[in-house]
Amino acid sequence: MKILKFGGTSVGSAKSIATLIHIVSKRVAAGEKMAVVCSAVGGITNLLLKAAAQAAAGNQTDYQRTLHTIDQKHLIIIDELLNDPQDFLVVYKQYYTELTQILQGVYLLREASERSLDLIASFGERIANQLVAAAFTQKGIPTQYVDARTLVITDDNFGQANVHFKETNAKINAFFAQNEAKLPIITGFLGATTSGATTTLGRGGSDYTASIFGAALHAHSIEIWTDVNGMLTADPRIVPSAFTLPHVSYIEAMELSHFGAKVIYPPTLYPAFTQKIPIAIRNTFQPDAVGTIISDSPNPTPTAPNTGIKGISSIAQVALVNVSGAGLVGVAGVAGRLFSALARGNVNIILITQASSEHSICFAVSLPDAQKTQTLISTEFEYELAQGRISHIEISTDNSIIAAIGEGMSHTPGIAGKMFMALGKNGINVVAIAQGSSEYNISVLIPQKDLVKALNVLHQAFFKATEKVLNLFVVGTGLIGSTLLKQLHDQKNYLAQNQELTIHLAGVANSRKMLFSAQSIDLVHWRQTLEQQGETTDLPQFIKRMQAMNLPNSIFIDNTAGAAVVPYYNQILEASISVATPNKIANSGSYASYIALKNTAQKRRVKFLYETNVGAGLPVISTLADLINSGDELLKIEAVLSGTISYIFNNFDASSTFSQVVQEAKNLGYTEPDPRDDLSGMDIARKILILAREAGFALEPKDIEVENMLPQACLEADTVSDFFEALEEQNHFFEQKRFQAECEGKRLRFIACLENGKAQINLQAVDAKHPFYNLAGSDNIIAFTTMRYQNTPLVIKGPGAGAEVTAAGVFANIISIGNYLG
Ligand code: ASP
Ligand code: MG
Repeated sequence: MKILKFGGTSVGSAKSIATLIHIVSKRVAAGEKMAVVCSAVGGITNLLLKAAAQAAAGNQTDYQRTLHTIDQKHLIIIDELLNDPQDFLVVYKQYYTELTQILQGVYLLREASERSLDLIASFGERIANQLVAAAFTQKGIPTQYVDARTLVITDDNFGQANVHFKETNAKINAFFAQNEAKLPIITGFLGATTSGATTTLGRGGSDYTASIFGAALHAHSIEIWTDVNGMLTADPRIVPSAFTLPHVSYIEAMELSHFGAKVIYPPTLYPAFTQKIPIAIRNTFQPDAVGTIISDSPNPTPTAPNTGIKGISSIAQVALVNVSGAGLVGVAGVAGRLFSALARGNVNIILITQASSEHSICFAVSLPDAQKTQTLISTEFEYELAQGRISHIEISTDNSIIAAIGEGMSHTPGIAGKMFMALGKNGINVVAIAQGSSEYNISVLIPQKDLVKALNVLHQAFFKATEKVLNLFVVGTGLIGSTLLKQLHDQKNYLAQNQELTIHLAGVANSRKMLFSAQSIDLVHWRQTLEQQGETTDLPQFIKRMQAMNLPNSIFIDNTAGAAVVPYYNQILEASISVATPNKIANSGSYASYIALKNTAQKRRVKFLYETNVGAGLPVISTLADLINSGDELLKIEAVLSGTISYIFNNFDASSTFSQVVQEAKNLGYTEPDPRDDLSGMDIARKILILAREAGFALEPKDIEVENMLPQACLEADTVSDFFEALEEQNHFFEQKRFQAECEGKRLRFIACLENGKAQINLQAVDAKHPFYNLAGSDNIIAFTTMRYQNTPLVIKGPGAGAEVTAAGVFANIISIGNYLG
């Protein structure tokens, strides 16, 4: 014997009832023995209770309108479902008339007791099951409509009645002993007291009915047919990567259904559990999907490897109550009195924590109970409050509870660590924590505004097998910015396949327009979309919006070269959003602001990465950090840090004059529009300053000594062409230097050097043994001399400019932030 229960949506339309009949009749034909339990047509229970409330409030037109809606919903289904509805309409009319009379009574009395409400609600299941029975009959399958009120005996706790199992089981067994031949169609949700008053088993209680019948009949299994593919790792409306759990234990199902995932009515689990009857959750609308099995057998497919976590669940809004005061410490009975007082007031407690200092007790209650809780405690502890032994009763309401659930987590260290690490890295503050020693559930209380983010973050942390999403907010779509977006797009598939990483462009802005999308802006057509749908750029607004979206794994990328975005870095890092940028300005300003950003990033446990500040994509800053972190001691840095100047001196030989080479570099686009910006050494000074700071020296911009290699006349020229004219006149000066170097077997290089905490930039002649002697094109070269690399320095060499390599360096930073956010 199997019990198949179909929920409100499964009987919600003629089409779904037809599907239900198809599913059942196939199996009946195959010889399976079963009984069917159905809920009311979807939405009808709510409407019935609404009509009752309207009638009790004296709103005649309102309740009649609601009643009319109920009638219409049923009539449409009847009309579509039954070929020859006359017989059934007679039955239906009787129900409808009786319901109308009862509501009329409620209206006249202006009163709807819990008892009346149960009677009124019962029409939903009675009508739906009669209808389903009629539809089976039409199909030629003999059925028997079973009004569960004749079999399920309960106490008189109307609205949520408790089942008397002994009597109920006896009645169910007696009934089934006589009715072998026909397919029973049983009303869910309903019961009756010994004296015959209609009761209900709590909202969603049809599941429970199925379980009661299943347990009484020692059924082989109970199937809950609903409109989702079983129990999921998280709520898919909030966590898009949630997936169906093929198997959970009764306890896990209990924990999961208690929190948010309303796939099954929690009391359902108990009767099935005591008899070890497996419960299958199936989707009426996708009958081929496997669904979830709830049973006792050991889990065949662990879903979150090495963690034992089965799901992440939540309660969206709870009130947190904190009772504190010196008078609580070491005093026995305070907790007892507190919770007894709440119990007397019928307040349900969702979560409790007390630290061993005993200075405060904190617990969560459902929001509607908050006010009552306050009053109950104030009354109970009136004396202690007056004496000051209890100093505070604080209630805060904007909290959510989020829980990691899984039987397998017991005796597995590191789960809580993982959970709090993931929350911390995303800037989610944990307000309270609870875990019982059974270790099935770790619950934490967090600010409600962070709920969606927290669910996604934890889902990602525990179900690594599923993709991780990085949400990028990109400002600046010039050469580097657009190259980065192209690279991100080109690399999308590789990252998805090899790193399980999905890149979302959640926000993008250039100097004119900005655009946001939590689902990601298309990485191919971003330019058109930004143009067409973007709003006028407003930087403070961009940052506000980014914070308000509150997406997990958010990363801010400043691809601009100017100073406008820099002042916002600190605020962004404060909001627990990592920053990656090729922009040098933040790190080459005052030392105080450089260090402030580092401190904020550390405090908020996020990353501030700027590998491309020096040598573009070359791994200069990270190498320096590796050397220092591994205990090496830095003795000296020597570097050619400007691709432009590198190009000029690499091409300056006897065949051309200096001004010709500079002109050539300008023509090739290697220089700034005014080549003096390069030749002044300003850009190099910034880079060596950053390296010095990374090496631990608190230098200011003015501490960098830059040798001015340009003669005065060149510096004073008004225009660029004047400059070239002046430079031409000075060619002999450069030629002389070059010639002298050549005679000594040396070459000219403009070198930045950091030694003994002092940074200098000057024109040097280096001999053939020097690592910088053989330098080609516009290469950068950086040589680290350290205790470990003393005889031969560690050298990094390669192109130190260009959009492709710079964007790639920023890309690498993004990936490393992604890995860190893990
Ligand atoms: N019809 C009832 C309700 O909506 C019972 C059920 O659907 O399980 O709560
Ligand atoms: Mg339901």
